[in-house]
Amino acid sequence: MTDTDTFRREAAELLGPRGFTFDQELIEPWLTDWRGRYTGKAVGLASPVSTDDIARFVKLCAIHEVPIVPQGGNSGMSGGATPGESGSSVVLSLRRMRSIRAMDVEARQVTCDAGVVLQTLHETVEAEGLRFPLTLGGKGSATVGGLISTNAGGTQVLRHGTMRAQVLGIEAVLADGAVFSGLVPLKKDNRGFDLKQLLIGSEGTLGIVTAATLRLLPQVADRRVTWIGLSSISKARNLLLHCEQEAGEALEGFEVMPAHCLESVLAYLPEARSPLAGTHAWHALVELVAGNGETEQLDSLVEKMLSGALERDLIEDAVISTSEAQAEAFWQLRDSISPAERAIGPAMQHDISVPVARMAEFVETVSPRVEERFPGTRAVGFGHLGDGNIHFHILAPQDAIRGEWERTEGKAISAYVHDLVTEFGGSISAEHGIGQMKRDELGRLGDPVALQLMRNIKQALDPQGILNPGKLVPLARDASTP
Ligand SMILES: Cc1cc2nc3c(=O)[nH]c(=O)nc-3n(C[C@H](O)[C@H](O)[C@H](O)COP(=O)(O)OP(=O)(O)OC[C@H]3O[C@@H](n4cnc5c(N)ncnc54)[C@H](O)[C@@H]3O)c2cc1C
Repeated sequence: MTDTDTFRREAAELLGPRGFTFDQELIEPWLTDWRGRYTGKAVGLASPVSTDDIARFVKLCAIHEVPIVPQGGNSGMSGGATPGESGSSVVLSLRRMRSIRAMDVEARQVTCDAGVVLQTLHETVEAEGLRFPLTLGGKGSATVGGLISTNAGGTQVLRHGTMRAQVLGIEAVLADGAVFSGLVPLKKDNRGFDLKQLLIGSEGTLGIVTAATLRLLPQVADRRVTWIGLSSISKARNLLLHCEQEAGEALEGFEVMPAHCLESVLAYLPEARSPLAGTHAWHALVELVAGNGETEQLDSLVEKMLSGALERDLIEDAVISTSEAQAEAFWQLRDSISPAERAIGPAMQHDISVPVARMAEFVETVSPRVEERFPGTRAVGFGHLGDGNIHFHILAPQDAIRGEWERTEGKAISAYVHDLVTEFGGSISAEHGIGQMKRDELGRLGDPVALQLMRNIKQALDPQGILNPGKLVPLARDASTP
C-alpha cells in the first residue's frame, strides 16, 4: 500500500463516504478556477460537516504531510482555491458547513458556518429585518469563509468597507489542528494582537476559517438606483465627488463601466435592455438608500443630485429606477460584466487600485499605452470607482488561443500593467487577493520588508507549509506549487 493509499483510507475512515472521496469524476468540477485559468489535480476531496472533523482531518494531513487547499464556493478570481498540478494536495471543501449557528437580532449579529453562501446569508438576515452590507456578483456561490479569506470587497465598500469591517469574530482550524475559538462578539477587546485580522485576507495560508460572527445592519427602507450616461471617466470622477457632497450617507454604491462592457452584457443576456435610449462612452450606476423615516426625502434627494449634475454638465442622460424589479435589473447589468467578458474570449484581468483622485488619469493614459504596445488588444476598465478600484481587463486579440495567449503575451501585459500601477502608487490586488495568479508579481513588486514579515508569519503559523502552499506568500524557497 502506498502512502497515498494509506492517507486516503484513513481520511475515508475519519470523514465517511460523503466526507471524503477520491473518485476523479466527483473531484473534477472543483479542480478548475471560476475563470478557467488554472486546472490542478488532487489526491482527494474532503467535505467535512463540523469544526471537530476539520481539526481531526488537518491533523491527519499534517501527519502525512499532505498539503491542504481550502475551498468555499470556488468563485475566487486569483486561482487561490485551485490545487497545483502535482496532485499531492487535498481539496478541503467547506460547502457542507452551512448552518446559521445563531442570530441575535437585538445585537444585530449573526454567527454562521464558513460554508454559508452569501446569498443565503442575505436572505436569512432579511427575514429578520436585517441586512448584511456586503454584496458582489458571485453572491450565489461565494461563501462566508471565502469572503473572509480573500477580504472580499464588492459594490458596497464605499459606505460599509470590505469584509474586514464586517467580521466581529472568527473560529478557525490552524495548521496543527488546533482550533482558534475567536467567536467573541465584543466591540472592544484589547487583549493583545487581533488574531482574527491576521486570518482575514490570508487566503487559506494561515488557517481554515470554520465559522464567523458578522455585523448586521437594519434593512434599508427604500432605495433608488440610477443609471447614468457620461462622456468620460473623468466626468465620472467629478460626478462621484458631486454625489458624495449631495447625497452624503445615503450614497451606497457608485460603479462605472465603459460602453464596451454594457454592449458585452447585452449580447450575453438576450432579455436585457439598455437602460438609456442613446449611446454613451461611459455609464455609471449610482445607488442611494433611505432608512426608516427617511424614505419621503429619497426622491427629492435623487432628483436634486441629478439636476445639479446636469447643470454642471457632468452627465449626458439618466434614468431613475421606479420599482425594485428595475433596480435589480440595473444591478444585474453591472453584475453580469465578468461572466459576459469571460464568454467573449481570453483576457488578462487586473484588479487594481490607485488613489481615487488618479483613477481617471490611470484609465485614460494607460489604456492607449497598452493597446499600442500590444496590438490587437483592447483595454477595458470597470468597477468600483468610488473605492479607487477598477477591474482593468486587457482583452486578447481575436486570433488569440485561450490558455496559450495568457501564458505568453498575457504575462508580459500583466507585468507592464502592474509596473504602471506601481508607478501610480497603487496596489496590484485591490480585492481579489493574490492566489497563484499574482504571487510572483507580489514577490517582484512588493516591499521587501513587508514580504519578509509575511514569510515570518507564515513560518510561525504553518511551519510544515501544508496550508495552501504556492499561494499568496512569495516564499523564496517555495518555488514549486504542489
Ligand atoms: C461574477 C463574480 C463577481 C465577483 N465580484 C467580486 C467583487 O466585486 N469583489 C470581490 O472582492 N470579489 C468578487 N468576486 C470574487 C469572489 O466571489 C470572492 O473572491 C469570494 O470571496 C470568494 O469566495 P469563495 O467562497 O468562492 O472562495 P473560493 O474561491 O473557494 O476561495 C478563495 C480563497 O479563499 C480560500 N478559502 C476559501 N474558503 C476558505 C476557508 N473557509 N478558510 C480558509 N480559506 C478559505 C481559498 O483557499 C482561496 O485561496 C466575484 C466573483 C464572481 C464569480
